[in-house]
Amino acid sequence: MMNDLHPPVLAIDVGGTKLAAGILASDDLMHSRAEVPTLAAEGAPAILGRIVGLAKDVIASSPEKPVAVGVASAGQIEPLSGDVIFATDNLPGWTGLGLGRRLAEALDLSVFVENDVNAFALAEAQLGAGRGYRHQLLVAVGTGVGGGIIVDGRLYSGHMGRGGEIGHVCVVQGGRPCTCGQIGCLESYVGTRVMLPDSGYTSLRELAHHYLAGETIPAVDEATLWLGRGLAIAAHLLGPEVLLVGGSIGLLGERYLSDVRRSYEIAAMKSYRNIPILPTQLGADSGLLGGGVYARQRLRD
Ligand SMILES: [Zn+2]
Repeated sequence: MMNDLHPPVLAIDVGGTKLAAGILASDDLMHSRAEVPTLAAEGAPAILGRIVGLAKDVIASSPEKPVAVGVASAGQIEPLSGDVIFATDNLPGWTGLGLGRRLAEALDLSVFVENDVNAFALAEAQLGAGRGYRHQLLVAVGTGVGGGIIVDGRLYSGHMGRGGEIGHVCVVQGGRPCTCGQIGCLESYVGTRVMLPDSGYTSLRELAHHYLAGETIPAVDEATLWLGRGLAIAAHLLGPEVLLVGGSIGLLGERYLSDVRRSYEIAAMKSYRNIPILPTQLGADSGLLGGGVYARQRLRD
């Protein structure tokens, strides 16, 4: 029997290097999971074709048939229409694409599209580290820095999907140039695109190995300092119950988070200092789970 709160939905995760899909089934687990390379350089029509093919394969192989589709995609997404307002050159031709409408036509199902970090935040809120907290902010630290805001258990994505861009909050006046064209953004101190070259290591895995062995790495100390201050800015504005930190930076483990916490506690007002800062739990499938959970939220609306 189908559970109304946990209907089976097709989840799709659109990233710059891979496309993944699966059925978020009534048991809240991801089934019939499959993935293919994005081959982004081939452009939007080819990527769309691969998504549709992958989706149809997953639906065909699943015993539970989806009642709707949830898509987590890189880029700024207009949540009501599922249009891509802006995407970087990681997905050439994605900007301006009517992603939700095109997939709905091809799959003959309702399609709900959200930004991948927002979807990640919603998945963590319902299935991961944020369970039991009503108000939360997730910060995803990878090459860049993204954010997702949960208010009263629901995703807050702002007007035209503008919400949560903590990576582009200015933390250093007259600071480093950011990829967005502004100066001194949090991302230009915390994202691995900048931190890794500054550290002298060539891969995050290699850096993590030395860092977790106790080595002092000034580029990481600088990143944790600014991330703690950035979280304090966000906490004062949003008043979350919990702050989650995820993304590839999770390789740096508890040492990284405790340094972030120390910086946060100095920057935050007294009554905000006990807000927990926790690692995310869902790992590599967080975007996929997020797409599925997002579709369920929209179905309930
Ligand atoms: Zn920026």
